[in-house]
Amino acid sequence: MSQETDAVHAGYRPSGDFRPMLPPLHNSAAYQFASHAEAIEKFALRQAGFTYSRTGNPTVSILEQRVAALEGGAHAVATATGQAAVALSLLALTQGPKHIVASSSLYGGTVDLFTDTFADFGIRISFVDQADPSAWAAAIESDTRAFFLESVSNPLCTVADLPAIAAIAHERNIPVVVDNTLATPLNVRPLDLGADIVVHSATKGLAGHGSVLGGVVVDSGKFDFSDAARWPQIAAPRVRLNNTSLLERHGPAAYSMLVRSKFLHDLGPTLAPASAQGILAGIETLPVRAAHVQRSVARLIDALAEYPGIAAIHHPALPEHPSHELARTLTPKGTGCVLAIELAHPSLVSPVIDGLALISLAANVGDTRTMVSHPATMTHCRLSEQQLAAAGLNTSTLRLSVGLEDPADLLADITQSLDLALAATQATADTKEVSFA
Ligand SMILES: *Cc1c(COP(=O)(O)O)cnc(C)c1O
Repeated sequence: MSQETDAVHAGYRPSGDFRPMLPPLHNSAAYQFASHAEAIEKFALRQAGFTYSRTGNPTVSILEQRVAALEGGAHAVATATGQAAVALSLLALTQGPKHIVASSSLYGGTVDLFTDTFADFGIRISFVDQADPSAWAAAIESDTRAFFLESVSNPLCTVADLPAIAAIAHERNIPVVVDNTLATPLNVRPLDLGADIVVHSATKGLAGHGSVLGGVVVDSGKFDFSDAARWPQIAAPRVRLNNTSLLERHGPAAYSMLVRSKFLHDLGPTLAPASAQGILAGIETLPVRAAHVQRSVARLIDALAEYPGIAAIHHPALPEHPSHELARTLTPKGTGCVLAIELAHPSLVSPVIDGLALISLAANVGDTRTMVSHPATMTHCRLSEQQLAAAGLNTSTLRLSVGLEDPADLLADITQSLDLALAATQATADTKEVSFA
């Protein structure tokens, strides 16, 4: 089926006594077993089915199947937040503790996780320039067990050369984990381009309405985890599994079963069924929203690229963007809702933000409503100067997450605020003459 159809139908057909059209909300912590024998089999993971909602719930399961279908994956595990999806997807690969090679332009929460909490766990991270494939190869160590990057980075929308990076990783039996939050599967499907695992903050574009938090880990089911010395957590016998291995038990579903039966079960960041239902409702309109947002982003770029007070717009649609060529082949439909606007001077940042009437100052992306943020003091405020620069940011950069309003109204709001801010700071209207602090 096409993604438009999967977005509406994958994972659910009306069934049962009432055949409800909408995926029903199964608000139950536990499930009745027909017999003791059935309970024994299900608890031993020898028989599929629901035992307790920390590790699986029928409503959550519909969401898992729907996102797996949209991403072209074999299995998915939903989590309480995107943050949990990133953490669990990587904990499942790096116990020991092991080493990760990661892009230096990542979501701020992921940077916190990597540099602080994972560091506490002994998991080491090498950050590399995402755009330089040779840097990924050079950073590999004997205990590297994952590559981690975002398909489209935030807020500069750098597009990852996934086929090149995956080729380097696979040569050394390293799985590639890709955060596809910003792009959404409507714009790029990392598993089709060589990635092995995709993670999402479903809070953002998948849900689209900004009313719930959630995350998803999607597995291609194709990575070779059969080397038991390298992947003991998957290929070696475990006491917990009566001395069998996850690979023996679950074959290509072994990785997702590790995420679910060990990490989701033991650490407990489970998605609430009501949240899953909310995300499912959002996904139904994702293809329509993605198309509208793409048109609005193009309109804003056109109108603002030369506007007084704007030094640069960072977006792959523009020829000067470093990902311009790559985006034409890997993300032909667009890169999603984010647009980075670099103002002509840092002193314009506060007045421009505070002068917006329609657009809200808020730290979210992929919402119905258009939002602006200032990465250097908000989402990326814990990054050092060096990390900020490595992420291609400076103190004049604003991030816009374009929503579903009429782009003409968005444009009018931005230009009135810019005009006022420029007049108030008495900056010259010629952006070329405004010096950077
Ligand atoms: C928001 C976000 C996350 C974290 O997701 P939460 O749902 O907020 O926990 C991870 N990666 C990216 C790219 C994000 O935008």
